[in-house]
Amino acid sequence: MKIYLNGKLVDKDKAHISVFDHGLLYGDGVFEGIRTYDSLIFRLKEHIDRLYRSADAIQLKIPLTKTAMMEAVIETLKANKLEDAYIRLVVTRGVGDLGLDPRKCPVPTIFIITHKIALYPKEFYQKGLEIVTATTKRNLAQALDPRIKSLNYLNNILAKLDAIESGTEEAIMLNYQDYVAECTGDNIFIVKDGELITPPVEVGALEGITRDAVIILAKKLDMPFYEKMLKMDDVYSAKEVFLTGTAAEIIPVVKIDARKIGDGKPGAVTLRLTDEFRKLTKVDGVKY
Ligand code: PMP
Repeated sequence: MKIYLNGKLVDKDKAHISVFDHGLLYGDGVFEGIRTYDSLIFRLKEHIDRLYRSADAIQLKIPLTKTAMMEAVIETLKANKLEDAYIRLVVTRGVGDLGLDPRKCPVPTIFIITHKIALYPKEFYQKGLEIVTATTKRNLAQALDPRIKSLNYLNNILAKLDAIESGTEEAIMLNYQDYVAECTGDNIFIVKDGELITPPVEVGALEGITRDAVIILAKKLDMPFYEKMLKMDDVYSAKEVFLTGTAAEIIPVVKIDARKIGDGKPGAVTLRLTDEFRKLTKVDGVKY
């Protein structure tokens, strides 16, 4: 397996990062998770735009143009002869000293890993997922804005531990006012009273690329769609709940905190959107 590391393709075993890299020492960096379907990179431009927005937000200047970054992604995919892949693109502050000071890190580290996709098992999509509400609150947007896709995922990992502790795979994270924000690695949607609803990202969520794609699809299909603040009561009493993310795509949720959602089966709106989303991934992408 070849890894793109600072402008070169190197063997996996030789793709080493310094222990003085601030991405490792402080989680000082940004990343993207991107997906390809049959040699089409889904929403590549949107992912690259988000990467550069995240980098801007932490005052990290990426020493590559967006075009060069896209070419690096394609070069890595081709080198690994992968048609269906998950791409992890990481930019860290780079090598510095043991202090926090980013000025001591003159050159950002860039690496790209392309790998086979590790999907949730098929039955999760057929039967739906059981999830819980995390006890860990979502980071306060004024402290570390969840819209920045940074290497600092400890907040999400603590919530993931809540999920694992409860014997489930995902957990809903609430913000400090107990409004529903998102899950540890996915955005959340509900269907209620004929409306498709997702919380606004300002509540404390990542602006998911899959979330955006679903919103566009819903509008095309004339589904009534709204961004609304949600409390857990709204979610418990929803007819349908589903999660969206690059790796998970669209995944139905049928139980939350031991409460059945709707009739306990993946709902019609979820299945319709999943179908349309799959069609989209077959045609909408950058060819390599
Ligand atoms: N929220 C969080 C916290 C995430 O890490 C992700 C990506 N795994 C998402 C939502 C979904 O975003 P996307 O659709 O862009 O993958």
